[in-house]
Amino acid sequence: MLSPKLQFLAGGAMVNAAYKMQSTYAEDEKQTPEEVWAAFQSRNELAAKVRDQFPRPAPHPTVAMLVCMDSRLDTVELVGDTRRSYYVVRTAGSAMSAKEEEMLELAAERGVKLIVITRHSDCAAEKAAKDPALRAKFPALVQAVDERDARLAEFLARPAIAERVKAGKLLVKVLDIDTADERVSEHKEGQGTTPPPPPEDHHG
Ligand SMILES: [Zn+2]
Repeated sequence: MLSPKLQFLAGGAMVNAAYKMQSTYAEDEKQTPEEVWAAFQSRNELAAKVRDQFPRPAPHPTVAMLVCMDSRLDTVELVGDTRRSYYVVRTAGSAMSAKEEEMLELAAERGVKLIVITRHSDCAAEKAAKDPALRAKFPALVQAVDERDARLAEFLARPAIAERVKAGKLLVKVLDIDTADERVSEHKEGQGTTPPPPPEDHHG
């Protein structure tokens, strides 16, 4: 019998082998939107058949994560969460609005002990916030990225969050994810954050 640690590692290796096997049935860049949709439905049909064979346990989540919508980030791979024991909120650039703050607070009320707020390298939302042309084109997105640190401070100051942290019932960590290898490190103040560039008038 393998130790829990070795079982976790072996499980991770098998998950990755499985991903590799499933990736052979992927979208083709030449496909039309209708073909991509048909493939999506077909994969869901197959995946549901697999799920029928392997009903998953429903543990109560102890971790909630906020992660960018970037497709390269896989929260299952990131921490081996094939057990589905995490709540995962995904937004562009991990930016929070009032509803994400409330969602995470609700998770804390439901017994989550660790909230992980992440940022990641090579983030398209952060890049858009630094590009004057993209700032003009996607004003709501860049505003959300600009306000990210202020929203995080606002979230940490919410009484339900601050009181839980103070009582030792909840930890909130801000982490940077290396997009290349998915390794995380604790976010340093100001690092990877995007100060809004000075206002520029591009429309003359
Ligand atoms: Zn991103």
